[in-house]
Amino acid sequence: MNKDLNISFEFFPAKDELGHENLWLSLKKLEQFSPKFVSVTFGAGGGERDKSDFLVKKINNKSNTPVAGHLTCVDMSKDEINSIALDWLNNGINRIVALRGDVRKINSKYVPHKKGYINAADMVNGLKKLGNFEILVAGYPEKHPDSENEIKDLENLKNKVDQGADKIITQFFFNDEKFLRFRDKAIAVGIKVPIIPGILPIDNFEKIKNFSKKCGTTIPNWVEQEFNGLEKDNEIQKIVGASIACDLVKKLQAEGVNEFHFYTLNKYELSYAVCKRLIADKIKIKKNQPKELHV
Ligand SMILES: Cc1cc2nc3c(=O)[nH]c(=O)nc-3n(C[C@H](O)[C@H](O)[C@H](O)COP(=O)(O)OP(=O)(O)OC[C@H]3O[C@@H](n4cnc5c(N)ncnc54)[C@H](O)[C@@H]3O)c2cc1C
Repeated sequence: MNKDLNISFEFFPAKDELGHENLWLSLKKLEQFSPKFVSVTFGAGGGERDKSDFLVKKINNKSNTPVAGHLTCVDMSKDEINSIALDWLNNGINRIVALRGDVRKINSKYVPHKKGYINAADMVNGLKKLGNFEILVAGYPEKHPDSENEIKDLENLKNKVDQGADKIITQFFFNDEKFLRFRDKAIAVGIKVPIIPGILPIDNFEKIKNFSKKCGTTIPNWVEQEFNGLEKDNEIQKIVGASIACDLVKKLQAEGVNEFHFYTLNKYELSYAVCKRLIADKIKIKKNQPKELHV
């Protein structure tokens, strides 16, 4: 549909058959925007792992869109991680989002596996030695909750890039200034790889508010106000959510950002609406470009 939009979409493996059908429908709908890739999250625990692997391979086999598989360090030895990565590579999948991951138990701290990668930077280093992968890593415009401070967080990010990460996808955020300041600071510490903002269109404010608390994303007061009184009206929440995401993307575009990663939550509607608006704007901009002057 449009080769100008530089976008990617994230999905997670569905819990059941119906969820999988919805996911597949969403993927097909969003493919119309010719994403650069779609990514599949990776859950800790045996069953979750298999579902991620299954979905990564299914997208690779049945869709024309390139797929990126996420991998996390949690509860896995280096050998186990490497064997999944090599299997993907043998299937023609060379894009990996390399992550530390989180412990599932609430209030439990991350502890590396005895024979595992100690963190994402260590995994990037290992995977780069293993094969010709394009590696993406996570960045945090508002600092990772486990990091002591912003400086330490940026040092960790720089280390991931020094180990060979090719691109950074950020945690979601709602304040464009936070992303832009983060981008400036990352450049100032010598990070030269692309930093792709993670965009989460809000489909259910209460749910996203809780989620934001866990991952350290601030909900600005004005966002809170926009959803005020809509608690029981989920359909209007979605419209407001798409509109906020669209404004955010446009503000970032105005600052030179030209690549976006959408957290779809396995639903296409909101990301679709935002992309549709962006395409309409691109067409408008092209039409309004001044014609050559002949004097
Ligand atoms: C784009 C994106 C995609 C994601 N996809 C997934 C996914 O598919 N599955 C999933 O489970 N999670 C996913 N996450 C969440 C991610 O796993 C968590 O944010 C996790 O807490 C940190 O992962 P990281 O790769 O950023 O860690 P790292 O960059 O390795 O570390 C982040 C911080 O953790 C601390 N830390 C690092 N190593 C250690 C250590 N050895 N001991 C103690 N503390 C340490 C440091 O403070 C460091 O700054 C994703 C996040 C993003 C932004």
